[in-house]
Amino acid sequence: MLRAAVGSFSDHIFVKDTKSRFVLANIALARHMGAENPEELLGKTDFDFYPKKLAAKFSADERTIIESGRPRINREEAGMDQAGNWMWFLSTKVPLRDSKGKTVGIVGSSRDITWNKRAEEALRDSRALYYSLVESLPVNVFRKDLAGKFSFGNRLFCETLGKPLEEIIGKTDFDLFPKELAEKYRGDDKAVGETREVFEDIEEHQKPDGERIFVEVLKAPVYNSRGEVVGIQGIFWDVTEKKRAEEELKRTAAELTRSNAELEQFAYIASHDLQEPLRMVASYTQLLAKRYKNKLDSDADDFIEYVVDGASRMRVLIDDLLTYSRIGTHGRPFEPTDCEEVLERVFANLQMAIHESGAIVTHNHLPTVTADPSQLEQLLQNLIRNAIKFHSEEPPRVHVSAEENATEWLFSVRDNGIGIDPEYANRIFVIFQRLHGRGEYPGTGIGLAVCKKIVQRHGGRIWVESQPGKGSTFYFTIPNAGDQ
Ligand code: ADP
Repeated sequence: MLRAAVGSFSDHIFVKDTKSRFVLANIALARHMGAENPEELLGKTDFDFYPKKLAAKFSADERTIIESGRPRINREEAGMDQAGNWMWFLSTKVPLRDSKGKTVGIVGSSRDITWNKRAEEALRDSRALYYSLVESLPVNVFRKDLAGKFSFGNRLFCETLGKPLEEIIGKTDFDLFPKELAEKYRGDDKAVGETREVFEDIEEHQKPDGERIFVEVLKAPVYNSRGEVVGIQGIFWDVTEKKRAEEELKRTAAELTRSNAELEQFAYIASHDLQEPLRMVASYTQLLAKRYKNKLDSDADDFIEYVVDGASRMRVLIDDLLTYSRIGTHGRPFEPTDCEEVLERVFANLQMAIHESGAIVTHNHLPTVTADPSQLEQLLQNLIRNAIKFHSEEPPRVHVSAEENATEWLFSVRDNGIGIDPEYANRIFVIFQRLHGRGEYPGTGIGLAVCKKIVQRHGGRIWVESQPGKGSTFYFTIPNAGDQ
């Protein structure tokens, strides 16, 4: 009966004599050995089934048990299946005694624990991987329990705190940081525990040497298997350099805006205030010219003429400067602006120039954009007027068009005029920069500088593509409404 019961166990069960020969075996063991039934094992030893080395180990162990009379209970042992794969067993071998107490063999059982061993190994591997990752990460990693006591810190965290892990574990922020910082950390941790939400912040941190650094922090709750919050874990990394660079950039940008505004204000005030005395100089020299022409000597007549000419040029320059400085200081708010209507007004303003030069100005359908309408008018007018003014031998032909991409409208004003050497493509947008003498083409060199300032105020760019003798195309962009 016992034999039958033992026979159905899934553990391997056997009895061996003092020479390690099988006297009894159950089905599970027979199967493991590759036998059809337990009887096939009887009288045989492990040497008949296992490689020599393994069988020798088993029989040596059994010898010791028999000689010492001491059992071996629940020992983890390496074994092998018939295909030669390594397995793990939990084996127990007990000396078998007869009625006189003499050891006559061994009773043994062994259980296949290969699966458990593999799971353990996998767990160990994944732990090792987790630790090596956490330890080698270039970020600080820590864990605290609900009472705020540290339960873990990685290598970098210990370095940052300047303490070995033993001196950190069990401590709270109040033991490690100045009070105000500790209070903040504790408050944030509590909020993470309560809201169960990930907390993100850039915070100030004090190093052991007193240096204050900025760190980017992420904190998240730690849960147990029942889904309860049992602590918080966090990572942080040093962003001091980044933060300083950002602050420097912000400061420089603010400084630039301030000095630009100051410069604009200065140009505006200077040109505005200069207008008045200049008007006086101009009108009195004109009066002088009118009253005293041919009444003084011829040198005096020339001098008066120079003064009159100089004063009127100065007036034009100052007016230009005023126009230029007004773009930033006196601009109107942006509004939906129909460029077709704007172009109508430009054509009306340039009617004379178009008529006199015999220019043909064409255009594609133009869109409605978000802009300052009068500045857009000035922009298109300056570009079209130049396209007509700098014409070649042929009658001027000008074409205006606009196309939209994902973020902006790209406008172009194309002509068949004298063209521009690409070397000067940037210079012409600078105030008072011209490529021609006043005798050749009239102008002061303000037109394109005004265009550039208007485009920049609208958040766009302006440039020219041209070759001498091949005409020019001026491009500018205006961000489309969705982007503003
Ligand atoms: P201005 O027309 O008063 O000279 P702008 O700032 O409008 O001043 O233009 C600067 C210079 O750029 C011009 O003197 C000219 O040399 C060149 N330029 C501008 N538009 C054109 C054009 N369409 N074709 C050729 N050259 C041009």
